[in-house]
Amino acid sequence: MRLKNKVALVTGGASGIGREAAILFAQEGAKVVIVDVNTREGNRIVKAIKAKNQVAGFCRVDVSVEQDCKRMMAYAKRKFGGLHILFNNAGIMHGGDGDTQSTDEAVWDLTMNINVKGVFFGCKYGIPLMRASGGGSIINTASFVAHLGAATPQIAYTASKGAVLAMSRELAVIHARENIRVNALSPGPLRTELLMKFLNTEEKKHRRLVHIPMGRFGEAKEMAKAALFLASDESSYMTGTEFLVDGGITAAYITPE
Ligand code: NAD
Repeated sequence: MRLKNKVALVTGGASGIGREAAILFAQEGAKVVIVDVNTREGNRIVKAIKAKNQVAGFCRVDVSVEQDCKRMMAYAKRKFGGLHILFNNAGIMHGGDGDTQSTDEAVWDLTMNINVKGVFFGCKYGIPLMRASGGGSIINTASFVAHLGAATPQIAYTASKGAVLAMSRELAVIHARENIRVNALSPGPLRTELLMKFLNTEEKKHRRLVHIPMGRFGEAKEMAKAALFLASDESSYMTGTEFLVDGGITAAYITPE
């Protein structure tokens, strides 16, 4: 088991990447705190994990709310005694996110509050607990859009993921001597609810697919495996960097027909 005796907290753990990571981390021996705004799904996943005699708990949290983030760390400490793995993964892609002309300030603010401030709060309240637990690994979900621009824009989302990537590097440098590693996980386009809601017609899906050399969307399970590597001691000399898991999209100039 790759995460034996570890405590892991996964934000956005009720769906997509977070759900698959929570399930995989528990299977690998971690005690997992699932954090999400979706109480029903969060509790359902906890129940499924416990049914396999593995360990998990749910804490309802909006990661953009400071008090909530304080509370999720208090929960991890009270319930499982500490924190070794923090997967800051919760994020949104808003339907009203477009170019500068079409995107409202409220959409910009909401996206930044969840996607960027949520990571900041996770680290603000998670790092002291991780330090007290002897160190660990922080994984922040960024995206391939931190590297590539698109003519069908999501200006707030793209800016938020660039911020997550930059913040991850700086966090890594600050905390390197404390046995706390920080890396970004940058997925390519995935077949999860978040993107499929946005690419809601076959034409829109096709427009994205033509840019992916592998010719398919990625799966949340594939991201969970990458997160497991970053979470485990197998990546012990890795900090301040990025794990791009993107079907080759950022390597492509022209893709095969
Ligand atoms: P998803 O929509 O399936 O899951 C996201 C989860 O986050 C949901 O359970 C949702 O309830 C939760 N959430 C949303 N706002 C929250 C908040 N304020 N507080 C707590 N929880 C909240 O999405 P996913 O595809 O699994 O995305 C996970 C992460 O991966 C996000 O950060 C996303 O930006 C990133 N990402 C996704 C893709 C993709 O193509 N799907 C690509 C690159 C990066």
